[in-house]
Amino acid sequence: MLYDAHCHLDFPVFDADREEVLQRAKLAGVTTLILAATTAATWPRLLNLVESSASTSPQLYACLGLHPLFIDQHQPEDLIQLKEQLLTSPKVIALGEIGIDLHSPESQAQEAKQWQFFDAQLRLAKELNLPVVIHVRQAMDLVIQRLRRFQLPQGGLLHAFSGSQQQAEQLVELGFKLGLGGGITYPRANKLRNIAKTLPLTAFLLETDSPDMPLKGFQGQRNEPARVALVAKALAEVRETTVKALIPSLHSNLLQTFPKLKII
Ligand SMILES: [Zn+2]
Repeated sequence: MLYDAHCHLDFPVFDADREEVLQRAKLAGVTTLILAATTAATWPRLLNLVESSASTSPQLYACLGLHPLFIDQHQPEDLIQLKEQLLTSPKVIALGEIGIDLHSPESQAQEAKQWQFFDAQLRLAKELNLPVVIHVRQAMDLVIQRLRRFQLPQGGLLHAFSGSQQQAEQLVELGFKLGLGGGITYPRANKLRNIAKTLPLTAFLLETDSPDMPLKGFQGQRNEPARVALVAKALAEVRETTVKALIPSLHSNLLQTFPKLKII
């Protein structure tokens, strides 16, 4: 029983063959997909997809939020709408993806606006007692400081974690799981693989970030949720165990991170 804790199956790049992508995920043993949002304009598409797939396997759930890479498109009114949707949409289980991205000169120029929206969404998560799914590039220590200040009651997922051992430990202490994806399939990713090997298994969730973050052997291709099975295999190799032995803990990590999954 596998899951993909972070993907973007609503993106138009899946429009032509979404059903086949879901079938391949099912065949790979993936029972749960969590889709992360980007902009308010695309929330209806995302909600429609997760709500219309009620009876199929894998089950689809959504995070709703305002992604830092799309900061140009966010309006203050989006935050009001976000609160409403979080309170009323039954398959929305977290806020996300939210965060800080200082990777490019363009995103650095928008840093102040990024913090405004990140803080507002962290406040909302605290108020509504919801977990958050966080995207961070080139700002890990700043984000950790922020999370320490906010002390979120539910923690959440630091998606596509790629920081240091110390940052990993600090995030776990703050109630966060680290998202492991295609990154750990690359032998050269020594730092990440060492974190995946040495931290307790309770620290991790599996994800693909499809269509992004291609695995080793699939560079240049669209990523898809079925390949989370290969992420699990890479984690098992790094920890010198089997996927089967990892699954119960990885699954309870998912339910612990997203408590609404237990009720739905
Ligand atoms: Zn993402």
